[in-house]
Amino acid sequence: MLFDTIVGISTKLGESAINVVRISGEESLNITNKVLRGIDLSQVPTHSVHYGYIVDGKKMIDEVMVSVFLHPRSFTTEDTVEISCHGGFLIANEIVKLLLKHGARLAMNGEFTKRAYLNGRIDLTKAESIMDMISAKTLTQLQLANQQLRGDIAALVRTMQDELLEIIAQIEVNIDYPEYDDVVELTQKNIEPKIVSLIGKMEKAIEQANTGKIIREGIQTVIVGKPNVGKSSLLNSLLKEEKAIVTEVSGTTRDLIEAELNLHGILLKLVDTAGIRNTDDIVEKIGIERTKNAIEKAELVLLVLDQSESLTDLDKELLELTKKKTRILVGNKMDLGHKINIENETVIPVSAKNQLGLDLLENEVKNRFVDSSLLDNQEVILSNTRHISKLEEAEINLKDALNATKTLLPVDMIEIDLRNAWHNLGEITGEIANDTLINTLFSKFCLGK
Ligand code: GDP
Repeated sequence: MLFDTIVGISTKLGESAINVVRISGEESLNITNKVLRGIDLSQVPTHSVHYGYIVDGKKMIDEVMVSVFLHPRSFTTEDTVEISCHGGFLIANEIVKLLLKHGARLAMNGEFTKRAYLNGRIDLTKAESIMDMISAKTLTQLQLANQQLRGDIAALVRTMQDELLEIIAQIEVNIDYPEYDDVVELTQKNIEPKIVSLIGKMEKAIEQANTGKIIREGIQTVIVGKPNVGKSSLLNSLLKEEKAIVTEVSGTTRDLIEAELNLHGILLKLVDTAGIRNTDDIVEKIGIERTKNAIEKAELVLLVLDQSESLTDLDKELLELTKKKTRILVGNKMDLGHKINIENETVIPVSAKNQLGLDLLENEVKNRFVDSSLLDNQEVILSNTRHISKLEEAEINLKDALNATKTLLPVDMIEIDLRNAWHNLGEITGEIANDTLINTLFSKFCLGK
């Protein structure tokens, strides 16, 4: 496909050693040549790097290194130039302005990657994985993004599509040549096991995606507990830095404190709360409402109890409030003794102040949410909600097909469900995609990518 020539800054502006300005499109060499001295880019081979100067007429802008990637051997598959200039806030912007003046257009968010996709160089899962790599905060997130970039997700999806096509092809043969003796007489009975097997594969992938989704998105976690039980201390110990204000005065940690914690490769999105109490103080009431809301929204509640004391009424209220949530009971102040008694539920003994027992707590979180063996064995794990929901749609269509075979509907009716499932899978890789999806998806990318 032929597009106009775009330019964008691929690095973050600021005081740094270098910035990179990227130009892609048919005119990228010509346009760059107009502002470059010291080398003529029309004469250089692909994948070569050159020294030169960016100038605005007679005015020198910067001393740069220019890399050239010629069509089709570039990220976008178009002629691409990357100008490595000095860092800072000014230079890269000046270079972009110059290139715009000479005919380039400012790239939109993700437009380089969008071109790579539209020009057939990468599928949609790979394009999305690039964004995941950039935003990765844990090594496990990076591991999943790399799998996706390598094409593992696309390969998994295509295997499923191939299996579907095989069933569809058999049905087609049966419809087209029903009178041929040598064509296997396709009855509902013999396509059924194939559909069942494929549903099994999909179910497994969807089940494993729970781990993937947690890794990719993190766990919305809230720490609750009565005043002074040690919530802020726990948060601080987990963060191993003083982000929350730890205080002896009840109720001083009034505002919700948000923090992200990388727990053995799982991201806990933590919200510390003001604690819950019965109070007439209006600010405290806001605190209570917010805490209840936070509990409601949380995927994990860490309920902190003082294990050196018996349960108080407030503890009991909190236990009641969180009983339907995925929760972990944290028995803080283990250094002060053990009085607490809770039946049928494990209390993890810790001392937030002395940093004791945190490993146990971290392991408990990990065990509750992820299947570590999947990660250790480098299994192909779906993690992107868009992919998962498309796979779920495909599974529903396959189940409809299965029901149709059971109720002995004609095979061509079954074929419609199978084709829909194939279509759903195609949307994951972007083999089938509409403009709205493509535009929304790439608009979430950063500029210059
Ligand atoms: P919050 O109101 O629940 O956030 O409680 P804080 O984290 O502010 O802690 C209240 C008090 O308990 C502070 O004086 C902490 O030093 C103390 N504290 C926190 N954790 C422990 C612990 O494990 N052992 C002991 N002995 N004191 C602790």
